[in-house]
Amino acid sequence: MKVRKRLYSMLVALLAILLVASCASKTSNVESLPSGTSSGSNTGSTSNGQSYKIDKQTNTIVPIDPQKHETNVVLLTFDDGPNPEVSTKILNTLDKHKAKAIFFMNGPQIEKNPELVKLVHERGQMIGNHSWDHIDLSEESKDSVVKQMGDVQKAVMDITETAPIFIRPPYLSINENVTQAAEENNLNIITITIDSRDWEMSAEKNDPEELAQRIADQLHPGANILMHELPWTAEALEILLTKATEKGYSFVDPMNIQID
Ligand SMILES: [Zn+2]
Repeated sequence: MKVRKRLYSMLVALLAILLVASCASKTSNVESLPSGTSSGSNTGSTSNGQSYKIDKQTNTIVPIDPQKHETNVVLLTFDDGPNPEVSTKILNTLDKHKAKAIFFMNGPQIEKNPELVKLVHERGQMIGNHSWDHIDLSEESKDSVVKQMGDVQKAVMDITETAPIFIRPPYLSINENVTQAAEENNLNIITITIDSRDWEMSAEKNDPEELAQRIADQLHPGANILMHELPWTAEALEILLTKATEKGYSFVDPMNIQID
């Protein structure tokens, strides 16, 4: 009798444990699944904290709700890095002005300067994909384009544990293969609205003051400014950010831009 009673109470205890365990696992499923996904699809946008989006017609950065958020914003971007002579200077100037930017990087530069990739990420700036080899992707086969994008995704992921969400195809060369490959890599294509033409200057012939003025003259609400990781651009940045602030512009944090 005693043995039976003991067996019975052990069985009850076991059932209780099983019941608690199954509840716990159900609860954790419930918690881990919908929080991000369902609330995002319910409201379509702002629940994840993003307050800006890209206007597909004009390529400008616009507030999702113009009543709530500033329209006089500009997006700063720096292509072709990282560059040991330039990246840190750009980061310091951005920090001084509490500005954020996207650094669109290429494969060989990432491989050569992993510590800079890490630094850009750790300083709260966004890293974007600019293809591995900086080639005209519209000339490539679909497989090649997927690889050009995917290899950068992996390299950045390996260093920062964060995969890029934006790609700027080199030369803004976009066709069906590029669009599909971007989709397969979970990348959103982003273009430009202002070309700084900093790439026309050279080590021998450059003028940071003129460069900053040229960009400042073209500023408009939601501007997406193409710059490069070049020494004269890094120098022009301090002047540009001061001028932009004087004109009443603030710098949009790319993490605040909603993606599709
Ligand atoms: Zn480029």
